Amino acid sequence: MISSEIFNFDNSYSRLPERFFASLPPLPVRDPKLVRLNSGLADQLCIDAKFLGKPEGLAILAGNTIPKGATPIAMAYAGFQFGHWVPQLGDGRAILLGEIIDSGGVRRDFQLKGSGPTPFSRMGDGRAALGPVLREYICSEAMAALGIPTTRSLAAITTGEQVSRERILPGGILTRIARSHVRVGTFQYFAARNDMEALRLLADYVIERHYPELLSTENRYLGLLASVVKQQALLVSSWQLVGFIHGVMNTDNMAISGETIDYGPCAFMDFFDPDIVYSSIDQMGRYCYKNQPHIAQWNLGGFAQTLLPLLSQDMDEAVETATEVINTFETLFQSFYYAGMRRKIGLSLELDGDDNLVEDLIKLMADYNMDFTLTFRYLCGLKNEKSLADSVIYKLCSDQSALDLWLLHWRARLAKENSLDTQRQNTMMQVNPLFIPRNHLVERVVRAAEDDNNMTPFNELVDVLARPYDGQSGYDDFAKTPRPEEIVKETFCGT
Ligand code: AMP
Ligand code: MG
Repeated sequence: MISSEIFNFDNSYSRLPERFFASLPPLPVRDPKLVRLNSGLADQLCIDAKFLGKPEGLAILAGNTIPKGATPIAMAYAGFQFGHWVPQLGDGRAILLGEIIDSGGVRRDFQLKGSGPTPFSRMGDGRAALGPVLREYICSEAMAALGIPTTRSLAAITTGEQVSRERILPGGILTRIARSHVRVGTFQYFAARNDMEALRLLADYVIERHYPELLSTENRYLGLLASVVKQQALLVSSWQLVGFIHGVMNTDNMAISGETIDYGPCAFMDFFDPDIVYSSIDQMGRYCYKNQPHIAQWNLGGFAQTLLPLLSQDMDEAVETATEVINTFETLFQSFYYAGMRRKIGLSLELDGDDNLVEDLIKLMADYNMDFTLTFRYLCGLKNEKSLADSVIYKLCSDQSALDLWLLHWRARLAKENSLDTQRQNTMMQVNPLFIPRNHLVERVVRAAEDDNNMTPFNELVDVLARPYDGQSGYDDFAKTPRPEEIVKETFCGT
């Protein structure tokens, strides 16, 4: 224990019954070193970043010291992985130290990932390799900068120990901050055990924590289902709008809060292909880009099932009302998605035919494997009237006449807006990023870190991605599509 109170912990999850978790401290590591500390996030959490950077702070991030007020636990959960039921998963390599109320009054989990074995580790070693830790840091912080709900990364450290994967790799620990770590799989854990008391407690817990506006409503559990459906529709539509492929949308990786969680073999797409799969473990393409909305709805169906006994004493009625709510997913998703796409192509009005215009662009991008990010970004630079500026976007499409045809329709539609070029262009640039964590960039910084213990490229990439919408001098290469020899075809979870 250290004497001063560095964190204002208030640990609500550990006050739930003991069967919700296992209590244990992280397993200390030999020689921790700080790779990066997110001081902006530390400020939001009202944590003294300077302290965290000192040896005493580092000892906490390494799991070598338990700070005062912490109640370290590993959470229990289950889940459907690739459609198959796994009755017990749980935090096998993560420890929740506690919860902090941030400067905005939001309760946030403070979790160490890679902190040693727990009763939920099954065959795993409870550790994380540095590569996946850095990948998660990069992608989660990029996601946050894009304005998409996500868990955050407060710190990445090396442990001074090695982990054994396909080869021997340096170990790392990520400090993950989340609105909570309750997942669809947490509900499924208790539902599978027929533990009605726990289910009700858990449902009440997440309502109070994430959806307190439901507390005064008549059927708060139906409200919970509807709220989670809406948050997921919003989340997955945001992913589709930036070409993000989560890669492992198992129910244990779907957070009730609506945050993106678990950056394993995820990827931001370069050349658009709706069927593309990067994850080495997704051989059937279950979690490919275009399937993400369907999978989200399938997972939500699983969530609904766990809530049935809370919805009504009459099972038929419960099924009927839950089904109605689940069926709203598609409409919600479409409305978020097309609204986002309209913004991306510079439309502020909503007119008949807009969805078709979007679909035609998506088809064009797919037919010619146009770079997802640059297509939209280059579109920002085009004028209301055809001009020489069009030449920039021609570079992305091998069939100029097909592209010209779409641009013709787009301009005819823009004419109905009466927007000025500069005004529309500026608005578009605020929703169409220039910089995303392209796989080859991530791969390059991970190689430098793991192979040469060189963290400079990692730090540089994180800095650039913190301002995804702004041009940054000297970093033009970070916005480019990969050269053929740089293309990363496969990503790994690295567990
Ligand atoms: P993930 O694929 O990261 O969502 O993890 C799925 C399950 O495997 C979770 O229960 C994890 O805690 C567990 N797990 C993943 N990697 C390890 C590891 N190295 N040691 C122990 N458990 C792990
Ligand atoms: Mg997981």
